[in-house]
Amino acid sequence: MQLGGQPVIILKEGSERSRGRDAQRNNIQAAIAVADAVRSALGPRGMDKLLVDSLGDVVITNDGATILDEIDVQHPAAKMLVQVAKVQDQEVGDGTTTSVIIAGELLKRAEKLLDQKIHPTVIIGGFKLASDKAAEILQAIANKVEADDTESLTAIARTSLNSKSVGGAKTLLSDMAVTATRAVMEDKKVDIDMISIIQKQGKSLTDSELIQGIVIDKEVVNTRMPSSVEKPSIALIDVALEIKKTEFDAKIRITEASMMDAFLDQEQSMIQDMVDKIQASGATTVLCQKGIDDLAQHFLAKQGILAVRRVKKSDMEKLARATGAKVVTNLKDLSADDLGSAGLIEEVQIGDEKLIYVRDCPNPKSVSIVLRGGTKYVTDEAERALHDALCVVRDVLEDGWAVAGAGSPEIELHRGLKEFAGTVKGREQMAVDAFADAVEIIPRTLAENAGLDSIDVLVELRAAHEQGNTNIGVNVETGKNVDAFKAGIIEPLRVKRQALRSAREAAELILRIDDVIQSKSGGGGAPGGMPPGMGGMGGMGGMGGMGGMPPMM
Ligand code: ADP
Ligand code: MG
Repeated sequence: MQLGGQPVIILKEGSERSRGRDAQRNNIQAAIAVADAVRSALGPRGMDKLLVDSLGDVVITNDGATILDEIDVQHPAAKMLVQVAKVQDQEVGDGTTTSVIIAGELLKRAEKLLDQKIHPTVIIGGFKLASDKAAEILQAIANKVEADDTESLTAIARTSLNSKSVGGAKTLLSDMAVTATRAVMEDKKVDIDMISIIQKQGKSLTDSELIQGIVIDKEVVNTRMPSSVEKPSIALIDVALEIKKTEFDAKIRITEASMMDAFLDQEQSMIQDMVDKIQASGATTVLCQKGIDDLAQHFLAKQGILAVRRVKKSDMEKLARATGAKVVTNLKDLSADDLGSAGLIEEVQIGDEKLIYVRDCPNPKSVSIVLRGGTKYVTDEAERALHDALCVVRDVLEDGWAVAGAGSPEIELHRGLKEFAGTVKGREQMAVDAFADAVEIIPRTLAENAGLDSIDVLVELRAAHEQGNTNIGVNVETGKNVDAFKAGIIEPLRVKRQALRSAREAAELILRIDDVIQSKSGGGGAPGGMPPGMGGMGGMGGMGGMGGMPPMM
């Protein structure tokens, strides 16, 4: 509320309020604490975290977004940082730890500037200048990657898997990520949802399989049907293969045996009719979204048709994309044109469950990956890892640009931004300078997590970049320099760009707050949710002058 320029805030009794530097310091510390919590997870030598929730459920992960999702953060400023990770995950699928660490470091450096009486607006302005310049620098060092460049794409998938606990399955998973994303790409767009991931406990990760088609959690409806059909002609129908129950409780009085026969005959002939239509279309397999009654099963089995009932709607849509079949809602319309194809459809027993595999679809626009592993912890973490791998391949397929990893782009950003700072006038220069120093936190942390001396590593990296070797990063095994691009440590340009962007936006949001009011109701005084408008980070840039913020509930 703003009255004549003076903020008027009416507080509930017992509300706590902190203003100015106190509020800023408190918020910044909370955000830094979150960033510190995930630092040790960064990179291939990062550690896993074991998280236990209030119900005693356990998650073992190395995934920044998951860590932040699982820990119950209370402080509103800390929540904003958690939000950074979420945005990063949704937008690009990788680089979550990176974005949070950079945000924390930006705030750490901003804090020092605030101590030197630099106004937050100046810092925010300088950060904006720096991040715009950073985007330019990244684009300048990026390399083009074409959709048919399997080697680079696989390296990109592998790089994202380097920091995940997927044991010896890295090669298999990165190959699958590339094949799967390329399969579902249409008009340079990849919809990750068209890649189904199915977890099945048992065996090991290396027994995971990519199916050029769909796997559905169903079984063949009747044991007298074939359990597999080669080169099936597939009908997808959204019609119940059963006699509709009358809506009213109709009674049919049967007085003679012949009437009973006639009645049954009629029912039988209606079902027979339906099955005839299916057979006439040439279908050898029926995947039905609704029910199939005993009689229909009997007739279908007699024709040697494999049938599955009550297939989920979402699976029907994917089946249509994979097999090229059209989902038919009226059997009268079913014709050969509506049928889809595959190399093989089969029922597979895994443990004590049965699954239907629709394999080897020609040019499937939807595919499935069945992840195997000893326990749910293993398959869960593998699914998270695979998700990142699919996302990074998608990012590069869609944009066509990648940068070297292993801390090399951040060293290059440091160098370029320092140079740029020299051209910036006034106090904003100090903020640009701080931004330049902040991004170096990534190679520094990679080195530290590998047990290396980060100062030595940074000195060597900077020297190499001064010589114009833009792709030199840290070899976390040896501590020596490595040409990251040649070594196959490659990341999407999109991931790096977004990580800087969301980090800067979060820092800005937190720096803009100079008044925090915590409502005491609800016990404990622990600040709960975020103020309105801060849930999504989309429009964060525009939140100027938050003199009188609404109380946080
Ligand atoms: P994020 O959640 O930010 O993706 P990760 O734990 O996945 O965090 O670590 C990503 C960082 O690890 C990137 O900077 C990437 O370049 C780096 N990295 C990946 N593989 C290697 C490697 N073999 N050597 C050095 N750095 C690597
Ligand atoms: Mg990663």
